[in-house]
Amino acid sequence: MPIFEFRCEKCKKTFETLVFGNQEVSCPKCKSKKVKKLMSAFSHSSDGKFSSSQGSGCGTCSATSCGPS
Ligand SMILES: [Zn+2]
Repeated sequence: MPIFEFRCEKCKKTFETLVFGNQEVSCPKCKSKKVKKLMSAFSHSSDGKFSSSQGSGCGTCSATSCGPS
């Protein structure tokens, strides 16, 4: 599904919405059409958090089989 994240340039609200084709997107809060499309929210934010927390969890050991014991 074509879900994109946007940020309103006017009230700075971020929101996700479905966009089909060239449908115009407007801010759900202030109805402004001055919205900016952000990079994919999903892969973007979860990516950074995941890799950093996993990296610090086993920073001293390079073995992939290392886990909590
Ligand atoms: Zn707005």
